[in-house]
Parts: sequence; C-alpha cells; structure tokens
Amino acid sequence: MAHVKITLDGLKCERCDHEWIPRHPEENPRVCPKCKSPYWDRPRQKRE
Ligand SMILES: [Zn+2]
Repeated sequence: MAHVKITLDGLKCERCDHEWIPRHPEENPRVCPKCKSPYWDRPRQKRE
C-alpha cells in the first residue's frame, strides 16, 4: 500500500489564527467559527 499525502483546502482566521476545513468550499463562511469575526479573511490593515 502506497502512502499519499492528502492536502485539504483549509481556512485560517487572520484574527485568532483558528484553522478549519470548510464544509462548503465553494462558499466562504461569513464569520470565523471560533471568534465569530466577520473579518477573519482580512488581515488588519495599517493606514498610514
Ligand atoms: Zn477567528
């Protein structure tokens, strides 16, 4: 039996570093399932 490495598309929250596998990869969740932040996919932006 050969071993293969399976990689899944996971999502990572930019706010709390929580990582999870989306149940419906075709659509992004609105909020992070852990910290409930709607900005989980956007890192904090610095305005200068
Ligand atoms: Zn989060």
